[in-house]
Formats: sequence, C-alpha cells, structure tokens
Amino acid sequence: MSAMTLDPWMAAQMGLAAPLTREAITAWQLARLNETIAHARAASPFYRARREWTEGPLARIEELARLPFTTAADLFANDPPLLALSQGAIARVVTLETSGTSGPPKRLHFTADDLESTVDFFHHGMALFARPGDRAAIAFPGRHPGGVAAGLAVALRRLGVAPAVAPSPLDPVALAAWLRDERPDVVAGPPVPLLAAARVAANDGGAPIRARAVLLSSDHVAESVARALTAAWGAEVFRHWGMTETGYGGAVDCARHCGCHLREDELLVEVVDSASGAPAPAGALGEVVISTLRRRGAPLLRYRTGDLARLIEAPCACGSALKRIDGFAGRVGAGAPLASGGELTLPQLDEALFALEAVSDFAAVVEVGAPATLRLSIAAPAPLRVAATLEAVRARLVEDPVVGAALRVGALRVEAAFADALAFSPRAKRQLAIREAARCAQRC
Ligand SMILES: [Zn+2]
Repeated sequence: MSAMTLDPWMAAQMGLAAPLTREAITAWQLARLNETIAHARAASPFYRARREWTEGPLARIEELARLPFTTAADLFANDPPLLALSQGAIARVVTLETSGTSGPPKRLHFTADDLESTVDFFHHGMALFARPGDRAAIAFPGRHPGGVAAGLAVALRRLGVAPAVAPSPLDPVALAAWLRDERPDVVAGPPVPLLAAARVAANDGGAPIRARAVLLSSDHVAESVARALTAAWGAEVFRHWGMTETGYGGAVDCARHCGCHLREDELLVEVVDSASGAPAPAGALGEVVISTLRRRGAPLLRYRTGDLARLIEAPCACGSALKRIDGFAGRVGAGAPLASGGELTLPQLDEALFALEAVSDFAAVVEVGAPATLRLSIAAPAPLRVAATLEAVRARLVEDPVVGAALRVGALRVEAAFADALAFSPRAKRQLAIREAARCAQRC
C-alpha cells in the first residue's frame, strides 16, 4: 500500500487531475508565476520600479533564472514598497526586527486568503501523522490570531484533533511538566526547546513523557535531536521547513523521511549558488530562493531566503510527485571560516553536541584568530554537570570531520564550561556568534 501523501489535496488545490504529474505541476506553476509577475509589476511599487520585471511573460520556468533576486534587505528597506494591495486588504502584518542593528523592521503582509491557505496546508500536512481523536501539544509561539500556534490549532481542530497550546515562553522544566499534564499523542514545536524538556524529564525522576509523533520546525533539526526525541518519547519525528516569508508553511516530511515535500501550490522553489546566484546543479547544496504563486497582498519574486538546502526533483518512495527539500545546512554566511579549511557552523555543533545525553542546550561563540577559539556554554541537567560531560563534548567535536581536522592541526581550540541555566531563552534566535578576537597584544 502506498503511503499517505499531500498529492490528492494538492491536485484539488491546483484544479489538476490526480495523480499529479511533474509536467502538470510545472505547467500550472508557470501560469501562476506569470500571473504573479503581471500582478506585481502592475501593483507593487517595488517590482514596478525594477525594469527587469517588466518584460513579457516567461515561456519556460527556467527563464526565471535570468531575473533579479528580491532580498531581505529589500524587505527591510521597503522603498519603494512591496505591498501590491491596499492596506485595507491586509489581514495581518508580521514585523521582524533586524538583528543587532537599529535598522528598519522587516514587514510582511498577509491577506485573509494567505492565512487560510496556510491553515489548510497545516491541516493536510498534519494529517500525514495526526488522527481524529488525538491530543496535540503545540509548543510554538504565536498564540494570537494569525500566529503559528493559533493557525496550527485551527488546522488540528479541522482534523478532529484536540490541540493545546503551551503558555510561552516555557523553560524546559515548565515545558516538561506541561507535556506530562497534557499527555499528547502528537507534539509540535521547535527542536531544541523540546529536546531540553526531554532531557530535563529524563533526569528529574518523574513519569516518562510519551508521544506517537513529533513535528519539528522553526529551526535547523539535527539528526541527533530527532534520534534523541525518538529514544526519549518513542515518537516518530517529522520535519517541517518554513519561515514567515513562506507564509509559515513551506514543506513537510512524509512517512519515508527522505526530504520535506514542498507546498508547490504556493511556492516555486529554486536552489542557487549562494555566491554567484547561478542555478545550483541538480541536487546540490545551495541557497533556497522562493517565488510566491498565489499571494496577492505582498508577492515575493525570487526571494533569497538565506537557508541552505538541496532540492530533490525525483519522485519520492511515498508516491508523491511533489518536489522535496532536504540536507538543510543552516544559513548563508553564518559559519566561521577555519584556517584548516571549511567552516564551523551551528548545524555541525548541534549534530555533535546533542548526540550527548547530558547536553540539553548550548550557546556558542567563535573568536576568529590564529587559532580560532570556540567558547561553549553547555546547559545540562544537574546530575550531569560533571567534568566527564565537558570531556565528552570535546571528544564529540573531534569526531566531526571539519571541526576535528581544525582541532588536530591547532587551527581551533575549544573552551567549554557549564551554563547556569538548563536552557537558553526559547525566544532568542539560535546562532553561532562570531567575534573578532580581542587585540590584546596591541593593548598590553
Ligand atoms: Zn515522500
């Protein structure tokens, strides 16, 4: 029996016959893309001002690669504005602050249709593993109308699932207690806060937390985190990729777990070489670029998401014709170059450190220099705050091919210490902080 897929629902969304074929999807996407380009150049001051977008309709989707990108800086500047409908047609404005600067905030505008489309995607995406009668625990932020947690709760109710949304923000002790109270069949939330709760619960002598399935999203999902949640809760782990710019929903794992199936009725996804901007070879790692296909309020054309991943076009073993994205490798430009070659990245550290049962969370700072210094602040449950844990952290890092090579030739040194807390704030963006080394020699 073939696995359950998004295809029947997606075919209905597109008005196409089931089973979906790649050719039919491509033809449908080209028509929607040309409509979006025509609408954007007519109604969005930003796209109207860019001469390249005023050419005629594309004959083939591949021609899109000739056209310019839209960047996060364009969204921040918003000059000329991207908005292609009047403010009155907008149901929700999401404001994203620029990290670390006093620059203008990035605003994204969604219509009621956009929000409904996302809830519909959540509904059919969650139906791949949630069943009527289930209880679901949602640990995402966004309890307000139009927010992620609220939208997911609406979607789950449509499925006949009873959702509960965690009070936020939750530290791992409170999150573990809440999960024990809720006794969910399905848990949905960001990976590291859920892992921290699992590790706290495994060491506090309380009742075990069990769940049949876990959906992880909103941050990079290391294999070590997925394995740990399966081991701790007995749960099958599903991944979801999305961001505010994709309308929250983007792509979701199927039962075969070999890449997340894209929401191809809303998004046309390209993967490009992050340095040159040229299309990446098929299946190669590159920057994910999205064009929206049905968004009227604030369409995005060739928007550079900053996420690194691979695009898989071959049909999936689950039977779906929908393209997949996989091999998520963090953010463009977020790594620290190492003198020994390669980069030190947060996904590498996640993979290595969360493989250790003692590590519930960590923060990492790299001071560039010769050698570079990696300062790790390790959060661990009380019984595991022992010297052996810090030794195990170093041992795991040596096993990573890139980090291990840097350690062996002296291009990197590691200073690890325990953090005071069991986890870092779930509200803070997880990132590898990169700093210039203090110029001590000149000052002293
Ligand atoms: Zn699949």
